Amino acid sequence: MEKTGKKIVIGHLYPDLLNLYGDRGNIACMMQRCIWRGIDAETVEFNTGDTIDFSKLDIVLLGGGSDREQAIVCGNLLKIREQFREYVEDGGVVIAVCGGYQLLGKYYKTEQGMIEGLNLVDIYTEQEEGRLIDNIVLKSDLADMPVVGFENHGGRTCINDNKPFGKVLYGSGNDGKSGYEGVVYKNVIGTYLHGPLLPKNPQICDYLIRKALERKYGPTELAALNDSQEEAANAYIYHRFVKE
Ligand code: GLN
Repeated sequence: MEKTGKKIVIGHLYPDLLNLYGDRGNIACMMQRCIWRGIDAETVEFNTGDTIDFSKLDIVLLGGGSDREQAIVCGNLLKIREQFREYVEDGGVVIAVCGGYQLLGKYYKTEQGMIEGLNLVDIYTEQEEGRLIDNIVLKSDLADMPVVGFENHGGRTCINDNKPFGKVLYGSGNDGKSGYEGVVYKNVIGTYLHGPLLPKNPQICDYLIRKALERKYGPTELAALNDSQEEAANAYIYHRFVKE
């Protein structure tokens, strides 16, 4: 593949604590879809206590974690809150999954106590009885294909007047009641869909890559890739859970 001369740098925040469902798979997917198109891609991991220079990052991934790990990470996040906020307000791309999604908000209230969030997006999460565990299928404005995934969370997230990531076609979503899942704010996506979110939903992966390239280089067209296997897998899940 001919090189485009473009490059994106992905910051993986706290893989030592927030990596509950193999969030690295999402990184591998973003890297590979760039490389296939002749776009250079690099991932920098930041563990707790590391200094983060957000001005060098194009995409930030905040993964999932257990309540215990979220409480530990919370202290570190508060130290980088202002730089993270500037990055988000400047159109920096963020994909935050499950525990990471909850930490984008004001707080995550559990039986054990209150975990203060980054307050980057006007949302909050409260734990309720019973975990919401199942496959999930969404219709999202960010993709033509349905968005498919798996959710497993005790927290219920209220997104106030923010735009959701998708409308729930099957599964529970943010709180099991509203009919919506996740949040989209500027170039930030927060979602409960964990594990292989991006390999399962290549259009969402490309959305993130395109937004990152546009912020850095201006209007961008991504070369088409052969996604026939991903499309077949996606259609299988859609038919299994939504349409007989
Ligand atoms: N600990 C959070 C919850 O149970 C998030 C879990 C996760 O990242 N899957 O709601």
